[in-house]
Amino acid sequence: MQKVYLDNAATTPIRQEVIDEMVRVMQTDFGNPSSTHSSGRSAKAVMETSRKTIAKLLHCSASEIVFTSSATEATNWILRNAVKDFGVKRIITSKVEHHATLYTVKALEEEFGITVDFVNVNTDGSLDYQQLFELLQDETKTLVSLMHVNNETGVVHDVAKIASLCQVPHVLFHCDTVQSVGKSVIDLQQLPVDFLVSSAHKFHGPKGIGFAFVRKSLVLQPLLFGGEQEKGWRAGTEAVHQIAGMAKALELAYEHMEEETKYIANLKLYCWAELQAAFPQAKPNGTNTFYNILNVVLPFSAEKTAMILFNLDMKGIAVSRGSACQSGSIKPSHVLAEMLSDADLVKPSLRISFSHYNTKADIDYLIKALQEV
Ligand code: PLP
Repeated sequence: MQKVYLDNAATTPIRQEVIDEMVRVMQTDFGNPSSTHSSGRSAKAVMETSRKTIAKLLHCSASEIVFTSSATEATNWILRNAVKDFGVKRIITSKVEHHATLYTVKALEEEFGITVDFVNVNTDGSLDYQQLFELLQDETKTLVSLMHVNNETGVVHDVAKIASLCQVPHVLFHCDTVQSVGKSVIDLQQLPVDFLVSSAHKFHGPKGIGFAFVRKSLVLQPLLFGGEQEKGWRAGTEAVHQIAGMAKALELAYEHMEEETKYIANLKLYCWAELQAAFPQAKPNGTNTFYNILNVVLPFSAEKTAMILFNLDMKGIAVSRGSACQSGSIKPSHVLAEMLSDADLVKPSLRISFSHYNTKADIDYLIKALQEV
């Protein structure tokens, strides 16, 4: 059966060079990076070189990069530390954040009684920056947690603006850049965020590895207790091959960013033009969206809505309704619920997300399958 993978916001195929690098590290640098003998030292060297590679690409210092098992883990750790150890009494976030943020904030609200304020989301998915400015006039110690690119709609938030609004002594800024790291240039010398989180499997790297950027002046408390790994902040023997794979994936992402961005942006334009031709009543969800994500409402009946993903899957097509974790459920996406009218919310919204491995033929196959639903 033909396979068409158009769910790259959920995860991406691993580049062959990344797999090769990981296999090489597993074969030759299997030592424990905490061991003092040469096997340990060479594994440690692989890990520290990887850290430097990532730091150089993001324009920060290697000591500001902390390896974690995922972005979810990094976000949990940072938000909890902010409340427990930095005296944060209020979190400002938005209802369109990933559940890694929203559920952590909810747990902290229940456990520590902090105040939670939500920045309003406009119907096009953008944020109300004026309201954020006004919320920040209150001098309560605050953490702002807002994402760069929304994983469901692809709406791009103005992180430079948010970061500049957060440049006041009582405010810290945590940014979920899971969908944008490796797909756009992020310069941490120019962008004054305090914390940023990223995940390798979103930029053609392995799963189970990510990193947090923690600005130098901030000293966190451990996420896990045990050994001295990651400055004692995250105990546990490091996954050296995954770390090396992540650094390789980011390096390749930067090397090919210009041509791949252009190629993917063109595919998205093509897909939207073909969708409009086939379904003139189709509507995009969100404006100012990232070049690799297209989220559309399709003019299908309720019965077809329930069957759409199943029908596409039967034809070997992977796309998403809302975010991956919700696609099997009938609950509407929490992101689209903030943006769409009730009438549009019951229609099928599809998230089609592209990578440089996709072709126009993939899109033709998807459109044909949608016409046959
Ligand atoms: N934040 C966003 C915007 C995401 O898209 C995802 C993954 O779906 C996450 C956080 C969680 O990342 P991870 O898979 O590394 O836990």
